Amino acid sequence: MREATRIIRSTLTPVVAGEPIHHGPVFAAPFHTPGDPASDAYTYARSHNPTWTALESALAELESGKGYRARALVYGSGLAAIAAVFGAVLRPGDVAVLPSDCYFGGRALLEQHFVPMGIQLKLAPTAGDAQAALLEGAKLLWLESPSNPKMDVCDIARLSKLAHEAGTLVGVDNTTPTPLGQSPLALGADFSMSSDTKLISGHGDLLAGHVAVREDAIDATGAKLYDKLLQGRTMSGAILGPMEAWLVLRSIATLPLRLERSCANALELARFLSTRAEVLEVMYPGLESHPAHALAARQMQAFGPVLSFVLKDKATADRFLAKAALITDATSFGAMHTTAERRKRWGHDDVPDGLVRLSAGCEAVEDLVDDIGQALESSV
Ligand SMILES: *Cc1c(COP(=O)(O)O)cnc(C)c1O
Repeated sequence: MREATRIIRSTLTPVVAGEPIHHGPVFAAPFHTPGDPASDAYTYARSHNPTWTALESALAELESGKGYRARALVYGSGLAAIAAVFGAVLRPGDVAVLPSDCYFGGRALLEQHFVPMGIQLKLAPTAGDAQAALLEGAKLLWLESPSNPKMDVCDIARLSKLAHEAGTLVGVDNTTPTPLGQSPLALGADFSMSSDTKLISGHGDLLAGHVAVREDAIDATGAKLYDKLLQGRTMSGAILGPMEAWLVLRSIATLPLRLERSCANALELARFLSTRAEVLEVMYPGLESHPAHALAARQMQAFGPVLSFVLKDKATADRFLAKAALITDATSFGAMHTTAERRKRWGHDDVPDGLVRLSAGCEAVEDLVDDIGQALESSV
């Protein structure tokens, strides 16, 4: 079966005559548990919930690949999913190697929460696989490719191999391409993490996240990575509500369509922006001019819906965003509608004042091109 077919079918219930073909949200705190609860599939909804079971099985389908099966765990947000991996792996004295240019929230979590508990943090940029030089003695290598917001690319397979030779576990923040656009577990990573707030839920109306591992993956002590994550989630209580879980599950059936359309729109917009004199630089791995285009083309199945471009200065970027009628000025990405923002306004990223990060939606691309053209003309 082709991928899109497999993904769309994965959201259906098993065939039972007279039962609904779709899962619905199951609202529960306790489940009926008379007597010894050991044999009950569900006991209390911080440990498990049938809506998660359905969603995690669809996510596992997305994350599985040739020759291996994945298991997924869902969380209340993408950052909760990152925290779950850090919490399962890192102990006082351990070294974590992060990209200096990754999503700022993961960096801040390590700096402000884990470093004070005795974890050492080492940082190097995504481009040129610079993190490879820091692997000796590291417990965890965290990657993000393409990096957010500068869209740099690293070689996940090469870095995973080097990390494993050094006894280091590898996690990939795979939010921007989604597991359909890039398969970290197939490339050799141990953890594939995603903020499902973005493309996987795809409507910009909820927060969720997940982590996937190969079902039989173990750490250096022989403990199953899945079991460690599951135990951590149950104890920390970083869980996803059943309503959100159901909405994400519902969205997975349209993910192949949405991803295809938004990636095609992103490429077309990146090409259009590259032709414009008002634009100083366009960062998108799908462009032949991207310094790591060949690598991206090899390791990604889709280049993702996010691109960044640089306008002259803060005032020009602000004017552009004010003039663009079909681009909603908002953070986040991966929804049906096109959004963009001047990234420097948050103060988290080392980027030019005029850098605009744009998330291509699923609109008719001709309308987006016309609108961006007029907004560029009236912003200079
Ligand atoms: C948004 C995002 C996160 C955090 O996800 P939340 O769902 O907002 O907690 C992590 N990594 C990347 C790359 C993101 O874009």
